Amino acid sequence: MKQLMAANWKMNKNWSEAEETASALADAVRGRLPEDREVLIFPPFTALKAVADAVQGEPGIAVGAQDFYPAENGAFTGEISPGMLTDLGVGYALTGHSERRHVLEEDDSFVGAKTAFGLGHDLRIVLCIGETLDQRRSEQVESVLSRQLEAGLAELPADISGESLVVAYEPVWAIGTGEVAGSAEIEAAHGFVRKKLQEMISPIASEIRILYGGSVKPDNAGAIMALDNVDGVLVGGASLTAESFSKIVLA
Ligand code: PEP
Repeated sequence: MKQLMAANWKMNKNWSEAEETASALADAVRGRLPEDREVLIFPPFTALKAVADAVQGEPGIAVGAQDFYPAENGAFTGEISPGMLTDLGVGYALTGHSERRHVLEEDDSFVGAKTAFGLGHDLRIVLCIGETLDQRRSEQVESVLSRQLEAGLAELPADISGESLVVAYEPVWAIGTGEVAGSAEIEAAHGFVRKKLQEMISPIASEIRILYGGSVKPDNAGAIMALDNVDGVLVGGASLTAESFSKIVLA
């Protein structure tokens, strides 16, 4: 299983800024990326082609989309299909990111529909899950993760491989706040996710990568990567410069 170091640029960077950052990142990690680690960049839609071109032929660097709509084509104004993404060289997509759940009000069943549709249409999916601060304070972490996994993976195509599905545990209270979950909290959540995956989809559960996301920075990435059941990270703010993200990638 290759560790996955993913950058979520959110709604940042125009075409030339994205191209410049992706090229600088490729320069910084070229020849230094361990064999068992891969890099994934989620630029905004408008910069997908620029980033795909900038990293084409770079070993171990892939490109993903931050979103897509679960249909092949049709009257869905403003939306983008998986086929439009794979056509650009995009291999991965996010589903269930907390900003889409909480700002764009996507519910569990829509996240599940997207996850299944993307997997069935040649995308690898990074399904994001995580509890809010209120839910943590009221001891609902496991029930929230359980519900999000059950709904998110409810309609999985039968023949998917473990490599094509990634789960990112991102406590909502740690995203963009500078507040990182503690080691014990991360290990407990990741251990629970692994156990739940084993109950739900045992043949591939051990091959599914579980990423941690929430204020990962160059100075905490190494310690987080060393924790049990942490198979990579999903990074927002600290992925916006090649200097910072390359340190995380090589931590
Ligand atoms: C994210 O957007 O998925 C994220 C984890 O953001 P940040 O690293 O800024 O907390």
